[in-house]
Amino acid sequence: MKALVFNGPKDIDYHSFDDPQLTDDRHMIIQVKHCSICGSDLHMYHGGQIGDFDYSQPTEPFCTGHETIGEVVELGKAVTRHRIGDSVLVAGGVGCGECRRCLAGQINLCEAWTTGTPSTAYGISPLVQGGQAEYLQVYHADIGATTIPEGIGNEQALLLTDALSTGYYGIKLAQVKPGDSVAVIGQGPVGTMAAEAAMAVGAEAVYAIDPVASRRERARTFGGVPLHPDEAISRIREDTGGLGVDAVIEAVGVGDTLKQAVRLTRFGGQISILGILQDSSSVPMHKAQAKSISVHGGIAGVVDCWSELIPLVQNGSIKAEGMFSHHFKLAEGARAYEAFDKQADNMMKVLMTP
Ligand SMILES: [Zn+2]
Ligand SMILES: [Zn+2]
Repeated sequence: MKALVFNGPKDIDYHSFDDPQLTDDRHMIIQVKHCSICGSDLHMYHGGQIGDFDYSQPTEPFCTGHETIGEVVELGKAVTRHRIGDSVLVAGGVGCGECRRCLAGQINLCEAWTTGTPSTAYGISPLVQGGQAEYLQVYHADIGATTIPEGIGNEQALLLTDALSTGYYGIKLAQVKPGDSVAVIGQGPVGTMAAEAAMAVGAEAVYAIDPVASRRERARTFGGVPLHPDEAISRIREDTGGLGVDAVIEAVGVGDTLKQAVRLTRFGGQISILGILQDSSSVPMHKAQAKSISVHGGIAGVVDCWSELIPLVQNGSIKAEGMFSHHFKLAEGARAYEAFDKQADNMMKVLMTP
């Protein structure tokens, strides 16, 4: 098959790669219909880190991508919830498939440290090949993939593999309730989805903060308040009687925005950090503690969110419209990465098609 392959920093290209083979009865193989690039893929692209994996070091080439939808073409004998020909969306993460957390759909909390099989995502290392490819082996298919539900379009399905689910996970971690005020720092795909989801679960005010006008202005489509970072503190203080918001979702992961998150949160409020932290990212915990703020960190609670989140998409509370601003052939993937990295032409997200 053909696939996008990571050879090293700034070196992801389209070429031949071994076809995936079933390695377990619980797995299945899909023919990829669409796939996308996640903001976290850029850490790989830049030679940064995701968890302990350091992309500046030499690695065996691997297929990239953890946002994929497709059609089932081959089933392991133990798969019960899928049929050949089904259209499915695949959660971005993979666990051991056996521990109580995996069985409950909390793949990101996999307890594989007890069995020695680490939990990971598709396409971030040679361990599990990714879905920016013509074919993908889906691990533990009964847990990690679901039939694309009725009323859900392909673009929404693709967002449910990661960006939308991760955004929703952020508001869940921050315990956003009806009537809350919420600030979301960073209006990239995950932050934007978190803001729209916060509104959908009944937040009274959602502030969408980003220096890029086209990104923050999107918040108007679902009733959010777009704010430039420079005006965020004064506007939020004014609106909240000087107190700050009930919850902040931080979707950038760098020093300045982490500091801003603590400043914007009220005493006793909640912060959830979705931005992928680097060694150099520091959270001002002393300031958070002084305000009795609870700080939650978490990544990609995808499957865990589907039962609550999918109905919100089906009933139109979350539309996630216009997120895929640019379309590419998978064969043009190298160019798609480059453009996504530069956010060329107000790019939000790319839809790639093999
Ligand atoms: Zn991702
Ligand atoms: Zn597990």
